[in-house]
Amino acid sequence: MARRRRNNPALCPCGSDLSYGKCCAPFHRGEATPESPQALVRARYSAYAKQEVDYIIDTTDPDGDAWQQPQNQWRIDIRRFGRKAIFVGVDIVAAEVRENSATVTFVAKLRRRGNDASFTEVSQFTCRDGHWLYAAGRPQS
Ligand SMILES: [Zn+2]
Repeated sequence: MARRRRNNPALCPCGSDLSYGKCCAPFHRGEATPESPQALVRARYSAYAKQEVDYIIDTTDPDGDAWQQPQNQWRIDIRRFGRKAIFVGVDIVAAEVRENSATVTFVAKLRRRGNDASFTEVSQFTCRDGHWLYAAGRPQS
């Protein structure tokens, strides 16, 4: 599966086995909004892979710990993170969804310079006017 995915750049980086156009691209183009924080995790993961910097910033809660200033440096960091990695897919490990907030634990599977660079993160989300936003994240040890 992983080999087929690497050989087929049309598949979505989030690892859904769907084409990018039928999976996360409509979110990045602003044609659709993720209906759950789990879907937002996938969309943001593939946004890093596709260098969709605006999408990362637009889906971050300005009142959350994940919001960064100055924005110029933040944009550079987002691009750098995506450029140096091979995106293998993202796995949702646990999700606790409340009315206007959620906690999602996920494994971001990555490779850097031939080495496994995957990490597990516990992330917090807020929901504003029907839109889920990434508020904060911390690595799970
Ligand atoms: Zn996707």
